[in-house]
Amino acid sequence: MAALLALSPVAADWHREEAAIMGTAVAVELWTTDAAQGRALTRSVLDEMRRIDRLMSTYRPDSELSRVNMDAAGQPVRISTELLALVKRALGYSITTGSAFDITYASAGQHYDFRTGRKPDAAQLTGALPAIDYRHVVVDEAESTIRFLHPGVRIDLGGIAKGYGVDRCIALLADAGITNALVSAGGDTRVMGKRWKRPWQVGIRDPRKEGIVSMIPLEDAAISTSGDYERYFDEGEVRYHHILNPGTGDSAREVHSASIIGQTATDTDALSTSVFVLGVEAGLALINRTPDTEAIIIDNKGLLHYSDGLARVEKQP
Ligand code: ADP
Ligand code: MG
Repeated sequence: MAALLALSPVAADWHREEAAIMGTAVAVELWTTDAAQGRALTRSVLDEMRRIDRLMSTYRPDSELSRVNMDAAGQPVRISTELLALVKRALGYSITTGSAFDITYASAGQHYDFRTGRKPDAAQLTGALPAIDYRHVVVDEAESTIRFLHPGVRIDLGGIAKGYGVDRCIALLADAGITNALVSAGGDTRVMGKRWKRPWQVGIRDPRKEGIVSMIPLEDAAISTSGDYERYFDEGEVRYHHILNPGTGDSAREVHSASIIGQTATDTDALSTSVFVLGVEAGLALINRTPDTEAIIIDNKGLLHYSDGLARVEKQP
């Protein structure tokens, strides 16, 4: 009780706001002694997320990305430098992950609806597979255009846009002089500084039941978790969920969740999706050769696997 009372004046300087944006819960928490600034900044963070959603959502027919999907197979489509830069970054991940991360997954992905339990039939899948290849996507930086080299190509930034949004919001807060903050969008989180003089704590959920498998202390770092329990439907023993293997157009099933810790949320977001697709062995190999990046994977038997940097920590007495 005494501890609680001692905390309350300080707790008043923490500002927290939450809203449903990008199909998920966006949360911001920051420390400032200026209450007006605290309110203004939490609002700015949510507004920034809404702006990115309007730009990049495939659920909005009027988004810039939807316009690309409509027209880019016919002619180059002029896009903002911001969208172009993120598409370029996404294409870079296709190269470093050997195509496990591929925004053209959506050529097949568009035939899934996880709320209604719809999946592509054999003919739709056969038709979509040749369109899944990041090399079909050509960005022209000088002209600021994007073009698809193949008919039927669709792109979706769902595997990277939330992390990008989180990074943008952290930058916005840093520019305003904030040094202790957390921004999260669904499974993507980035923190600055500390929470009440201790590291921030971000939980990794149990992919099959209520509860947390592991709490990760973080300072000035990002963490993303990709799981097969976010958007899915089951048919008998087989789970269809929102992370697809670009090689097959089917859901990846070697792991139940992949969590990545790194420097920016754009990186950890793209990498968590990638490692989910790659599975334990290839996923850990990727992370072990990526500097300043660690992974915690829960495989499809519920077993935990750690990247080399974390395994060393675990083994300490
Ligand atoms: P969440 O959206 O639940 O945070 P992820 O970060 O793992 O989870 O992203 C999953 C999203 O990534 C999917 O909803 C889809 O939009 C996109 N996606 C699915 N498979 C791939 C893939 N192989 N490469 C790139 N993006 C993908
Ligand atoms: Mg991701």
